[in-house]
Amino acid sequence: MSDYIPSIGLEVHVQLKTRTKMFCACPAHEEGEPNTTVCPVCIGLPGALPVMNREAIRKTVKVGLMIGSRISLRSMFDRKNYFYPDMPKNYQITQQAAPLCIGGAVEIEAGGQRKTIRVNHIHQEEDAAKITHMETTSEIDFNRASTPLMELVTEPDMSSPDEAIAFLTALKEMLIYAGISDCNLELGHMRCDVNSSVRPSGTDKLGVKCEIKNMNTFKGIHRALEYELERQAETLRKGGTLVQETRRWDDEAGITLPMRSKEYAHDYRYFPEPDLPPVVLDAATVEAWRAELPELPAVRRARFVKDYGLPEYDAGVLTADKAISEYFEAAAKKSKNFKAVSNWVMGELLRALGEKGQGIADAKISPEALAALVALVDARTINMPAAKDVFQVLFENGGDPAAIVKEKGLAQVSDAGAIDGFAEQAIAANEKVAAEYRGGKEAALMFLVGQVMKLSRGKANPQLAADALRRKLGK
Ligand SMILES: [Zn+2]
Repeated sequence: MSDYIPSIGLEVHVQLKTRTKMFCACPAHEEGEPNTTVCPVCIGLPGALPVMNREAIRKTVKVGLMIGSRISLRSMFDRKNYFYPDMPKNYQITQQAAPLCIGGAVEIEAGGQRKTIRVNHIHQEEDAAKITHMETTSEIDFNRASTPLMELVTEPDMSSPDEAIAFLTALKEMLIYAGISDCNLELGHMRCDVNSSVRPSGTDKLGVKCEIKNMNTFKGIHRALEYELERQAETLRKGGTLVQETRRWDDEAGITLPMRSKEYAHDYRYFPEPDLPPVVLDAATVEAWRAELPELPAVRRARFVKDYGLPEYDAGVLTADKAISEYFEAAAKKSKNFKAVSNWVMGELLRALGEKGQGIADAKISPEALAALVALVDARTINMPAAKDVFQVLFENGGDPAAIVKEKGLAQVSDAGAIDGFAEQAIAANEKVAAEYRGGKEAALMFLVGQVMKLSRGKANPQLAADALRRKLGK
C-alpha cells in the first residue's frame, strides 16, 4: 500500500448517559418493552414543544473540555429535514451552523508511535428511533427516539485502520472515565461513520472520499477499512476513477458495497430550530464543569509509572479500565510492593474475572485483602502456589487471607529443624542426584529442592530448603 497514502476521518455518535431524553422528560436508555417510553414531544405530535436537557449539554461540553476544544458560549440548534420512518417529526434537531465544541485533539498510540488526531467539532443532537428491517416488514421502537447524542467529527488525520481503532479506544476510555457514556458497543452506544480516501504517495491533495455508514464494532471498522483502502488503491492502480459515495459494510461477505445513491442524495434544508432558544453558557459554568472532570486515562497511566514505579505496560493494562485502575490503586495504597499488586491484578484477578465473565464490581476479594495476600507472600509466610489457592478462596468468598492460611494449614514451613529433616530425607532417597550436585552439576540442586517441597507437601520455604541442602551437601 506504500504507493498510496490513506487518510481516515471518523464521525462518532455517542449516546450520552442521561436520565431523560434530549427534549422531553421520558426516561432515556431504558431496556423496556418497545414504544413505552414515549410522549408527544419525542414522537413528534403536532404542537408539542421541546425543552433542552441541561445534563446532555453539560456532558458534551465536558467531552470538549477533555480534548481541548473551544467551548462555544453561544451555540444554536438547527433542523435537519428528512423523511424516514425512524424520525416521526420528519426532522432531526441537531447543530449544524454553530456547534457546542470547536476543535480539539486526541492523543493516540499505534504501532509504538504517538500521534495527535485533530477534532473538527462536537455537536449535540437527538437520536432517531430504532428500526429493524424484517423480511417483508419493518419494526420501529420509538423508545430510542430523541435520546441525547453527541457527534464528534475528526479531521482526516488517521492513516491506517490501527490508528482509527487506537483513536476510538482512546475516546471510549475517556468517555467511560468521565461518566459521559457507558460506551457499550453491543447496545449501540457508540456508532461510527468512517470516511476514507487514498492519494498517491508524494502528493498532498486528499483523494476522493468514501463514507461507510453506521459501523458499531471496532473489529468491523478495522476490517471494513482494510478492505476499503485496498479497493480504492487497487482501482487507481488499474487506472480507474473513484466517485465520492456512501457505502455499507457487508460483514459476512467482508466487502463494502455502494448504497443506492438516491438513498443519500439528501438536501437537508437546514434552518435554525424555531422552538429552541440558543444554548447560552457563561464562563463560570464551563469552569465549574471543567473542575468536575476526572483524572484522564493518559494522565493516570503516566502517574502510575511515576508514583508506583510500574512499567509502562502494566500502567497501560491497569488504566484501560477505570474500575480496575481504581481497584489497583486502592490495593497499592495498602501495600509496600506495588509491582506485586500489579502482577496479581493483571494476572490472577483479570483471569478470574474473565473466566466468570464478571466485572471488578462483582469480585469478592477486597483491595485490602489482595494487599494482605501480597504481604503474606513477601513475608514468606506462604509460597506462591499456596497464595494462588488463597486467592481463589478470596475471589469466590472474600474474607481475610491470614485466616484462610491458618484454616487451610498453608503456612510455609520456615522452621529450620523441620526443613533440615526434609533435606536429609531428600538426600538419602536420591544419593545419585546428590553425588551429581557434589560433582558440580548445579541443576541437580533444583531437583532436590523439589523433593523437599514434595516431602513438606508444598509448604517448605524453597529458599530455606535450598540453603539447607547446600549446607548438608557441603557447599
Ligand atoms: Zn418523550
